[in-house]
Amino acid sequence: MKGPFERPFEAGHHYEVTPDEIEALVQSLHSMELPVLTISTFPQYEGGDVYAFTLTAPDGAGAEGKHRLFISRPHAHEPAGTAACTELLKALLGLGDCAEGGEAWRRWVLDHFVLTLVPDANPGGSRRAPVKFRDGSEISNEQFFLWMFGESGEEPGARFPRVPAWDAREVTPPALVGITCEQIDSYLFVEPNRDTRSTFFRSFFELDKLHDYEVWLDLHQTEFIGSDRNAEMHLPTCQDELPETMATRHRELGEAIHASWRQAGGNPKEAPVVPYRTNEEQRAFLTKVWEPVSKTKVHLVTEVQNNHPRTPVPLQVHLQLAAILETMRWMVRRKA
Ligand SMILES: [Zn+2]
Repeated sequence: MKGPFERPFEAGHHYEVTPDEIEALVQSLHSMELPVLTISTFPQYEGGDVYAFTLTAPDGAGAEGKHRLFISRPHAHEPAGTAACTELLKALLGLGDCAEGGEAWRRWVLDHFVLTLVPDANPGGSRRAPVKFRDGSEISNEQFFLWMFGESGEEPGARFPRVPAWDAREVTPPALVGITCEQIDSYLFVEPNRDTRSTFFRSFFELDKLHDYEVWLDLHQTEFIGSDRNAEMHLPTCQDELPETMATRHRELGEAIHASWRQAGGNPKEAPVVPYRTNEEQRAFLTKVWEPVSKTKVHLVTEVQNNHPRTPVPLQVHLQLAAILETMRWMVRRKA
C-alpha cells in the first residue's frame, strides 16, 4: 500500500521540533474536531508539558484486536525522532504536506493500531538546546557533548558524570546543566531513560495501563564517531538473559529495521547490537530500569547519526520514520 514518506523531505523542510513548535501544534489540534486523536498531558516540574498523542479509529476493529505501539523520543538533544513523530502525527490526521494521496494508508493504520506518539519526553531539556538540529556543519562533538551531558562545576571544560540521577545538595552542581537532564524536584535531576521517576517513564506507565502496549520503540541519535555507519538498532542490555521467545522477537524486529534502513538509503551496521557490553556501569543502569519492560514487551532503541554531514537532517528524519513504519509492518506480519 502506498503511504507517505517514500523519500526524504526536501532540504529546508519545516519540522515541528522545539517545545514552542509542539505547543503551537497542540493548540491547533485542540481547535479541530478529531475523533481519532486523544492528547494526554504530563506536566514537568520545570514547567511545560510532555504530550502523548494516541491515534486510533474509534470505529475500527475492536481494541483487543488492534496492534498496540508506543513510540517516544527520550533524549532532548536528539531532534530527528521528534520530527519523525510530528510528521507521522500530521500524516495520520491528514494534515500538512503528507495529506494528499495517503487516505488508504491512513485508514489502514488507524483501523489496525492503537499508536501513541510522545515526540518530546523532556521539553524542559529541549528548551536548553541552543540549536534545533545538528548536522555536523557548525558544532564540534566536544562542544555538543558538554551541552548534552553538562559541564563539570569542578573542572571547566570537563563533562559532568553520566549518572541516572543526581541531587544538587550532594554533588558539585554542573556549571552547565546538560540538555539530557530532567529536573524532577527542587534538587533532583534524572536522565529520562535511566530513572523511572522521569516524565518519560510516567507517561508510558500511565498510558500502558490503558493500552497494554506490545511494542515500545524509542527514537535515539548518536554520533557514530570512528565509524562509517549511520544507523543501528540497540537490543536490550539484558538481551542474553531474556526468555527465548522475547529474545527472538527483539532480534527479529531489530533485523527487520536494519533491512528497511538499507532500502531507505541508510548505512546501518551489519546487525542490531547489545550496547554497553564492555561498560558494566552503564549496562547496569539500563538493565535495572529496562529488564522488567523487556521481559513482557518488545522494547527497542533506534540510533540514527547526529551531528555529522554524512547524515543530513532530512536523512536523519527519514531513517527514524523508516524504523517506525517497519515496526508497524513487522507487528502485522507477526500476527498474520
Ligand atoms: Zn539517546
